[in-house]
Amino acid sequence: MSAINIKSLIRQDVLKFLNSFDTILTDCDGVLWLHTTPLPNASDVLNLFRKLGKRIFYVTNNSTKTRDELIEKCRNLQFEAYRDDIMCTANLSASYLQNKAFTKKVYVIGSQAIAKELELAGISYCGIGPDVIHENKPYHIFEKDPDISAVIVGFDEHFSYPKMVKAATYLNDPNVYFIGTNTDERFPIDDDVVIPGTGSLVRCVEICAERKAVIMGKPEEYMAKVLMERYKIEPRRTLMIGDRCNTDILFGTRYGFTTLLVLTGVSSLSDIEKWKQSEQQEERDFVPNYYIDALGDLLSYLEELDTETS
Ligand SMILES: [Mg+2]
Repeated sequence: MSAINIKSLIRQDVLKFLNSFDTILTDCDGVLWLHTTPLPNASDVLNLFRKLGKRIFYVTNNSTKTRDELIEKCRNLQFEAYRDDIMCTANLSASYLQNKAFTKKVYVIGSQAIAKELELAGISYCGIGPDVIHENKPYHIFEKDPDISAVIVGFDEHFSYPKMVKAATYLNDPNVYFIGTNTDERFPIDDDVVIPGTGSLVRCVEICAERKAVIMGKPEEYMAKVLMERYKIEPRRTLMIGDRCNTDILFGTRYGFTTLLVLTGVSSLSDIEKWKQSEQQEERDFVPNYYIDALGDLLSYLEELDTETS
């Protein structure tokens, strides 16, 4: 991996580079917007990619929004978006079980978004919301639901010891599916408070269940398989854009997509310099093929391509 600065290329080469893709996979937070604030010109860039005939997929590890809620967020921030463009881990968790012709019930550690996606898939569930320790009710005594045949772990601000007890107990049966939405360790934030991400919760349940979860999000295989098998994307004609190297860029490296890092989110140039020198292959796989300060910096190139074709 080379980490070429797009701006160091001559203009003609950038146009050729942009023309070499049919499919654009883009992460959301840190690339298109920061929380609820769109990044400058990012929506124009994505909308122009689409106008130039490229297939767009929003690929996010976020498990707290449904596909429909993400479409709404995209549209509110001026990004064109349709149902099939959205790859989010709440929806993938439900579709994973649907593909297994799952007819039983799911114990969910997670948010309402997972519940809504399961409902849309016609799958029953329980576990959403607080489950706290009561002084006079031991947490190790609970009525096991015999219908539970899957456990999903996503982001859950009500994560608790009683939930761990239940998840690990259900997972003691090796026939019970174990799904983790994603492995992001922390949420990127500006101040000096650490907000544990879903990966911390998944790891916690994995340890007490003594099993590994099947992970829906980047950089793991399931999302790549859905993109290749359901949507027939061709890796060699696909560009993966992201701000976080150990998820977005590693995802691209593993499945043969060209990778572009933007510096508006989690990973920085100094991280890349460190990983380039790393003794470990996995860290060297964090190094993107290309980088650019911000997605919006591609706008003038795309405008030129648009003028050429119209
Ligand atoms: Mg991101």
